[in-house]
Amino acid sequence: MTDKEKTTLHMIDLIRRKRDGGALDESELSFIARGAADESIPAEQLAAWLMAAWLRGLSIDETRALALAMRDSGEKFDPRRLGKAAVDKHSTGGVGDKTSFLVAPLAAACGVAVPMISGRALGHTGGTLDKLEAIPGYRTALTLAEFEAVIEKCGASIVGQTPKLVPADRVLYALRDRTGTVENPGLICASILSKKLAAGLNALVLDVKTGSGAFMQKRADADYLAALMVTTAEAAGTRTAALMTDMSQPLGSAAGNWIEIAECVELLQGERPAANEDVRELSLQLAGWMIHLGGKAETPKAGYQKAEDALADGSALAVFMNMVEAQGGDRSAFDDLKKFHKPGATRVLDAWGSGYVSEMDTMALGWAVQRTGAGREKAGEPVDPHAGIVFHARRGAKVEKGQPFATLYATKASMMAEPIELIRRAVTISEEAPAPTPLVDRIFTLESAEVFLSAKSGA
Ligand code: URA
Repeated sequence: MTDKEKTTLHMIDLIRRKRDGGALDESELSFIARGAADESIPAEQLAAWLMAAWLRGLSIDETRALALAMRDSGEKFDPRRLGKAAVDKHSTGGVGDKTSFLVAPLAAACGVAVPMISGRALGHTGGTLDKLEAIPGYRTALTLAEFEAVIEKCGASIVGQTPKLVPADRVLYALRDRTGTVENPGLICASILSKKLAAGLNALVLDVKTGSGAFMQKRADADYLAALMVTTAEAAGTRTAALMTDMSQPLGSAAGNWIEIAECVELLQGERPAANEDVRELSLQLAGWMIHLGGKAETPKAGYQKAEDALADGSALAVFMNMVEAQGGDRSAFDDLKKFHKPGATRVLDAWGSGYVSEMDTMALGWAVQRTGAGREKAGEPVDPHAGIVFHARRGAKVEKGQPFATLYATKASMMAEPIELIRRAVTISEEAPAPTPLVDRIFTLESAEVFLSAKSGA
């Protein structure tokens, strides 16, 4: 224990220091992480500190110290007994962002272990855990022994933070969701890496979103977040690569809970609808990197090929189904994907003009999805597993007035007006076709991330 730790820390002092633009040291950030984890610091003080951190920012040193303190706030998973490289993927968050349900089984089918600790809906984005819980019986809160047993049996397990596993992130994540303190690179980096480092990963692939539906909408901010995460994870001993990927429109066509699971199961079953080709392609690229970093392919390209084979031969589908069953999920939900879907109310929104879909304010579309009932207003509230939106036109598509533009599934009919209004305001239909945006454009590894950060600090 340092001299500083022996002196009494008071949360009010740390809030005021951050509010006034000061920096916190390791022991002070540990005090916050521990106090969040055991709930000895009241929610209002944590929320005030989060807002101060959001407004004033966290330095690189503060971010790294917070990530490690949050990692150490509870139990940690030790994957060494699995006898395989442990590799995971995490996205910084987007709309219709569902690749976890593909990459975890793809990488596991190719011989790497995937201990994935995920989160719930955050801000305008959906949550991996909320989507999985749309499968009746699926348990996202496992003990470490259960987590290990599922990975041993199936190759992959997807779980959430619990009062024992990364408890600081469980509390801070839910508070950030309610207090408008999500979109900050230091807080995002600490949140993501606390979970990933607590899983004891050998390697990590980050999907860093950029564009109108990302938390870091500006490219330079997304690049900074990527470089910050890559260097922080590498300093903690996890080999890491970050792919910069497009979020200027929802990924695939479905955004919601069950409907996203159904879209992924269709892809795992080998279907290739044109509207969901981006989900398939991005998942294969991310899985290719996971397989490569996990030592099962010489290059990411060779890893992609292996992942594509695992998709084609049904082995990734088998991993997914086994994982669902091992975590208590009822596989019969997949017997008829459409029949299982029972939304409270359904409405088709027709295109309100003719021309090209030229711009999408994807963050607003994400809020539209949340307000169908797919998201929550208060922490701990249940979400509607059947709510969400299926978009029938992608950015760049030519639409005719009156053709179906989106199908909305809401908890009840009275909840339709707000998301419809949000969609109409978020989407621009114009005479000019927009310039296409690449799905993946830049990849950061340690070297390029260090060069980026040193150029930024010298600028
Ligand atoms: N995913 C996380 O786990 N945390 C964030 O802050 C953003 C995305």
